[in-house]
Amino acid sequence: MSSFDKIRTRIAPSPTGFLHLGTARTALYSWAYARHHGGEFVLRIEDTDVARSSQDSVDQIIAAMNWLGLSYDEGPIYQMQRLDRYQAVIDQMIADGKAYRCYATPEELTEMREAQKARGEKTLYDRRWRPEPGKVLPTPPEGVKPVVRFANPVEGDVTWNDLVKGPITINNREIDDLIIARTDGVPTYNFAVVVDDWDMRISHVFRGDEHVNNTPWQINIFNALGAPLPSFGHLPIILGDDGLKLSKRRGAVSVMDYAANGYLPEGMLNYLARLGWSHGDDELFSAEQMVSWFDGSHLSKSPAQWDPAKLDWVNGHYVKQIDEGRLAGLVVEQLKAKGIEATLEQVQPKVGLFKDRCATVAVLADWLAMYFAPVAPSAEDLAAHITDAVRPALVALAERLSALTEWSKAAIQQALKETLTATGLKMPQLAVPVRVLVCGRAQTPSVDAVLEQFDKKKVLERLQAV
Ligand code: GLU
Repeated sequence: MSSFDKIRTRIAPSPTGFLHLGTARTALYSWAYARHHGGEFVLRIEDTDVARSSQDSVDQIIAAMNWLGLSYDEGPIYQMQRLDRYQAVIDQMIADGKAYRCYATPEELTEMREAQKARGEKTLYDRRWRPEPGKVLPTPPEGVKPVVRFANPVEGDVTWNDLVKGPITINNREIDDLIIARTDGVPTYNFAVVVDDWDMRISHVFRGDEHVNNTPWQINIFNALGAPLPSFGHLPIILGDDGLKLSKRRGAVSVMDYAANGYLPEGMLNYLARLGWSHGDDELFSAEQMVSWFDGSHLSKSPAQWDPAKLDWVNGHYVKQIDEGRLAGLVVEQLKAKGIEATLEQVQPKVGLFKDRCATVAVLADWLAMYFAPVAPSAEDLAAHITDAVRPALVALAERLSALTEWSKAAIQQALKETLTATGLKMPQLAVPVRVLVCGRAQTPSVDAVLEQFDKKKVLERLQAV
């Protein structure tokens, strides 16, 4: 830490799609770590893969960060706007003998690798273009644009104490002279990331496990540049509930898909936080609590398992807890997405009745849809519950309800009771058919409370549709 005056972390997504859950978790940890230490959090857009990067992806990533409440202090900083800086560093490295141009063609390199394989060797670039004392380099072929390679140390170990995995050591003989600039001059990930982390004074790098093999190169480049070395923490991958790496092919992996499916940012953030980190037995906590606890310890070394049931449980906690006005607003949006118009004033008095049984806002909107759109009871429910034995009671109830001068829970309850007395039925024998007809489903919260939220006219219409 001594080389840094402040804790600075970053998230560096490649804008080739939406914000993936794994990246969101890395962003959350990086953000929480910076906030915990009163430091700064930077958003950097790694857009050097020009063919696959798009502004639309950048916008989606930023929307997802905003939705989760992961505020950044700097950025977005675009790598493609920093090409001059990378070029200047590369020129200096070439001048200092720390990097060199390599004119080997792809065909030559394939041949080289085949020969290495045939000899049972590891396939590593053989440094044929690396200047060395006493070595005569080939003449650069005409018309071949060179790549630039980093002159990686030939011997010795690269060692770092990973914040997640503990001490890691790689021998330099295991790694080769990596390409740092392509033939078109665009730098590669491993080089640009180092220049950026250096320039942006990043003190702690959290990122996915898939980058752990890149870190030895990056450390060597930091050292070659005389740049202070950040601490690295490589977070284990997230497995899907089928035990395979979570991926687009197996369900939703985009943060904003979860938003669209009625998850709350509080729920997502809380759930993501626990995917690879713990604070005692705490399962439910706010972003503020996480920030106060997240000091980089208790990060799990083993892969996390995506657990939709647990996510639902966590999210359901926040559906119950958040302000009902805000919840109603989200329900209005969910209904709108289904083509159902409803106003906040109509929705708000109804959410309290159903929210306790809902894991997501989408489920809550499914419940409330019965108030604003026609219901379609299933054929099974109709056959099972709307029997000849109960029809007269439904007619009698409709009459009593129709005669009510006051439309309240107590008055509805009274009408139900009187109908039971008159017909000799038990409450469920009447309440379930009423639910099927009016609500389109056999189970609901207390029937009088559910009916009270309807227009009386609508209840009568649906009861009379028997
Ligand atoms: N653009 C890289 C990625 O999205 C960033 C890796 C890093 O954080 O160094 O995986």
